[in-house]
Amino acid sequence: MTETLVYVGLGANLGDARSVLAAAYAELQRLPQTRGHRCSPWFRTAPIDSSGPDYLNAVACFDTTLSPQALLDALQRIESAHGRERPYRNAPRTLDLDVLLYGDQSIATPTLSVPHPRMHLRAFVLQPLEALAPEAVIPGRGPVSTLLPSVAGQAIERVD
Ligand code: ADP
Ligand code: MG
Repeated sequence: MTETLVYVGLGANLGDARSVLAAAYAELQRLPQTRGHRCSPWFRTAPIDSSGPDYLNAVACFDTTLSPQALLDALQRIESAHGRERPYRNAPRTLDLDVLLYGDQSIATPTLSVPHPRMHLRAFVLQPLEALAPEAVIPGRGPVSTLLPSVAGQAIERVD
C-alpha cells in the first residue's frame, strides 16, 4: 500500500501537560503502519477559543499506510486513553490530537476535514509546523511560510 506523509497536531492543557505530550508522541511512534516519525519543538500558548491553563503544542509527522479515517480512529483512541472528555465545545482538554495534513489530499467527510479547517489561523499549529517542515504547503491555503505573518499577533513561545 502507498505510504502517505501525514502531520498531526498535539495539544494539552490540563494536568501534567509535558508528560501527556511526551506520552502521546511515544504512542504515535508505536502506531502500526507508521514509520519515520519526527516531532517539532514544543510551544506554549495562552488558550484562544478555549479556557484554563496555557497549552503545550507540537506537530508530529510520519509516513503511514493507515487510511485517513483509520488514522483519526487511532488518534481518538490515544486521546481516550488519556482521559479525554468532551463536556462542551472547545473545553479544556488533557490531550487533543488532530489530523492536520494527509499528504496533499483534501478530505471532507462527516467525521474528518483535512486539511484541518482552522490550522491556517493558529500560531500554535503554524509555528511548530514551520519548525518541523519549513517547506510545508497547506492545500488550498498556501505555504506555511506565507501564512505565518497573519498570526504574528498571537502570543506563543518555544519551550526548551
Ligand atoms: P477540536 O480539535 O476542533 O477542538 P475535537 O478534538 O473535540 O475538536 O474533535 C471534534 C470532532 O472533529 C472529532 O470527533 C472528529 O470527528 C472531527 N474532526 C474533523 N476533522 C478533524 C481532523 N482533521 N482532525 C481531528 N478531528 C477532526
Ligand atoms: Mg481535536
